[in-house]
Amino acid sequence: MQLTRHNSKVKTIDCSHYINGEFVQSKSGETFENINPATKAVLGTVQIGGKEEVDLAVKAARKALKGEWGSMPLKKRSQIIRKIGDLILERLDELAHLESLDTGKPIWLAKKVDIDRAANNFHFFADYMTTTTNESYQQDDIAIHYSVRKPVGVVGLINPWNLPLLLLTWKLAPALAGGNTVVMKPSEVTPMTATVLVEICKEAGVPDGVINLVHGLGETGAAITSHEDVDAIAFTGETTTGTAIMKAAAPTLKKLSFELGGKNPNIIFADADLDDVIETTLKSSFINQGEVCLCGSRIYVQRQIYDEFLDRFVDAAKKLKVGDPFDPETKVGAMVSEEHYNKVVSYINIAKEEGGNFLLGGKTLFEDKGFYIEPTIITGLGTDSRCVREEIFGPVVTVLPFDTEEEVLEQVNDTHYGLSASVWTTDVKRAARFSAQIEAGMVWVNTWFLRDLRTPFGGMKHSGIGREGGTHSIDFYTELTNVTLKL
Ligand code: NDP
Repeated sequence: MQLTRHNSKVKTIDCSHYINGEFVQSKSGETFENINPATKAVLGTVQIGGKEEVDLAVKAARKALKGEWGSMPLKKRSQIIRKIGDLILERLDELAHLESLDTGKPIWLAKKVDIDRAANNFHFFADYMTTTTNESYQQDDIAIHYSVRKPVGVVGLINPWNLPLLLLTWKLAPALAGGNTVVMKPSEVTPMTATVLVEICKEAGVPDGVINLVHGLGETGAAITSHEDVDAIAFTGETTTGTAIMKAAAPTLKKLSFELGGKNPNIIFADADLDDVIETTLKSSFINQGEVCLCGSRIYVQRQIYDEFLDRFVDAAKKLKVGDPFDPETKVGAMVSEEHYNKVVSYINIAKEEGGNFLLGGKTLFEDKGFYIEPTIITGLGTDSRCVREEIFGPVVTVLPFDTEEEVLEQVNDTHYGLSASVWTTDVKRAARFSAQIEAGMVWVNTWFLRDLRTPFGGMKHSGIGREGGTHSIDFYTELTNVTLKL
């Protein structure tokens, strides 16, 4: 496999904070370098926000809750939100380019998934917010009860690095739809598209102070989550960070929405359509370098088809081209950062120590260029193996055989995670029976990552708190006042 480089046509950017409608630098003058994980080259500098910047951002957001934004008619707000989506599509190439440089993901994937779906988040909520209904009850001739929706207030949006713009906009669009103002912090390793997004929002007509962006490290996020004048936190990231945020938010009793880690099972029964299984399992294992919270990294295959599955799966995975994110043939790009690459490599080493059988991969590539890891398929590990139980978040999957539905269900649920699962069977009754018993927020049957933004998205157990999507997002980003009118 060769690593080739293509000239970039879009300049990279230095990332400043955006507070009260202005790009500003940190008072401390502190910055860090943004590194391209595919080349190890410096892409630019990023400001490190401290308590002072977070405080200014929260003050601007608080002020903006009133005034123009607070009294804007729903139709106008919806038009602005739609316009943000339109402008994202107009700048799709530029945004995809920056996302690919920041994350190491193939640029075709950034275009098709990250940026296109980011625009769709705004288009979806621009429409959805205009059709939201409130409860009302007539109590005989005694009273009428009805509810009034209000913004929650100032919301902190804290995001990870794997789908930077997509996940940020998945929170920002409904937050704006609900009439809130926000302080956003993207991951330190993927700051660029959020910085362009605020420019787009201004152009779309979002009033100053409604959207604020503070860059920085974990401490910057902590300053947001512990700020006494922030009303709610919507967070996507690691389960351990979720714990820290919950503690920080406790003294001021903030409303919380958490989308956390996962260790998602794919359960493949012998009657499944193996062509579909192979095609989709390749994606659910290795797309975005396995850096998707929904990736199915524990694969359970019924014993009758175990050998055939492995032969075909390994054969297909061997053909995935690893390398330059700007090569249209590339299927697996670079891991997002040196730190994360080292984490994934350490799990590969654990699997080796645990006696795993590597049917494919297990090696790093192009070390002099960037942070690349081969698609890796491991068998022979026990159900107690750390690689079977812990979230690796890389192009590494384990495959285990099973005999009965009962046996595999026990293994599937034997985890503190509960994000998603994929079930493969042509037996409709089994599909319904089995799916209902899986302890996960989302179960796909004979597919994976098929989304409809109206459906509840999120995890149970240690994979999250609450749901996003459709009415679930509107419920999180609004508060209800019930009014009782005595007749
Ligand atoms: P992290 O939890 O490390 O970071 C997420 C964000 O939180 C970053 O912006 C980070 O800042 C910030 N942060 C870190 N520490 C704190 C703190 N104490 N208080 C407030 N904010 C803090 O997650 P990753 O970026 O590593 O993302 C990968 C994880 O995200 C995986 O576990 C994955 O499963 C999960 N995820 C879940 C999804 C879901 O829908 N359930 C979807 C996508 C990912 P900084 O980067 O500066 O450290």
